[in-house]
Amino acid sequence: MKIPLARPEVGEEEVEQVAATIRSGWITQGPRTAEFENRFTESVGASHAVAVSSCTTALHLSLKVLGVGHGDEVIVSPHSFIASANAIRYCGARPVFADIDPVTLNMDARLTARAVTPRTKAILVIHQVGRPAALEKLSALATASGVPLVEDAACAIGSEYKGMKIGANRYSRLVCFSFHPRKIVSTGDGGMITTDDPLLDQRLRLLRQHGMSVNDLQRHQSTKIVQEEYLELGWNYRLTDLQAALGLVQLKRLPGMIRRRREIASRYDRELVGQSRIQLFQEPPDAIWNHQTYLVRIRDTSASERDQIMQRMLNEGVSTRRGIMSIHREPAYVSRFGMQSFPESERASDQCICLPLYTQMLESEQDHVIASLIRALA
Ligand SMILES: *Cc1c(COP(=O)(O)O)cnc(C)c1O
Repeated sequence: MKIPLARPEVGEEEVEQVAATIRSGWITQGPRTAEFENRFTESVGASHAVAVSSCTTALHLSLKVLGVGHGDEVIVSPHSFIASANAIRYCGARPVFADIDPVTLNMDARLTARAVTPRTKAILVIHQVGRPAALEKLSALATASGVPLVEDAACAIGSEYKGMKIGANRYSRLVCFSFHPRKIVSTGDGGMITTDDPLLDQRLRLLRQHGMSVNDLQRHQSTKIVQEEYLELGWNYRLTDLQAALGLVQLKRLPGMIRRRREIASRYDRELVGQSRIQLFQEPPDAIWNHQTYLVRIRDTSASERDQIMQRMLNEGVSTRRGIMSIHREPAYVSRFGMQSFPESERASDQCICLPLYTQMLESEQDHVIASLIRALA
């Protein structure tokens, strides 16, 4: 038996829609991207959604439109994929890390409050592995500090917090999503930004396409000669209509995919709860977790013992991954900011393992993963 860590749920309908897009003659950002944005706003309850090439570029543009620049600081969790902090550096600003709460793996609001300085320009909160962070506390802190909150919801599509979908902009002006194949909705690569502010929406649309005053579709549809202007420095961060065609089908699948992921996660919970060396992560009482990733924590383990456990499982055909990285330990950060220490993030990185979870997973496959993990721990 060979069990992958993840497997995107993509089928014939996606193939047909991408083929139809190719036949339509319009393959880059155009009508299907606009439709994808509209369906996305409905899906998460947002007023505006701007499609971009990835969550990394979504984060970059979001910080840009908030005016983050040289000499500024943005507070972020060190316990994340490296793109969360890189986006801050793209703006010339400094990522200031606030350590995590080990129970949730999300930013600790108390430590975040301590990291605020007069240079703080924004707080970037991450819903790690799709598990909603304490938005109420963090948005209150951001308001009290006079800075905006931005959400890195790369993993959190379909998750809910206090009865509202992540992306509804109840607690922040800008929420960024990813459509990389490791996330739940995939377009190969891709991203989306939701906002409740029509001016930010306009500015994001400008910056994702070279700062160009008229986009391709408007020019194509115009009966008069249109000469565009380049109003400010922008980027090419477009999503293509091929990707949007994929995304439109994927959005229809989303409720079913989340239902299935939650079932598989509950079954893992039930089967592993009695294991004394395993610590499970629970759904917050005021949230719905999409279970983008199923993580377990091995108590009192080291990174090297964790690697042995992962190797034993791989020998039995079970793919796993280490937990979330600690960004500050990577060479790209040590060389620039020196050795920093965030002990809770480091311990969680060393002790967590991601187990296979995909919607097509069979009960027999899941049984094999569970048995293999228990054997590897023995
Ligand atoms: C995957 C991920 C990203 C990057 O998303 P891309 O779409 O691949 O750029 C950013 N932040 C977090 C928390 C992620 O998990």
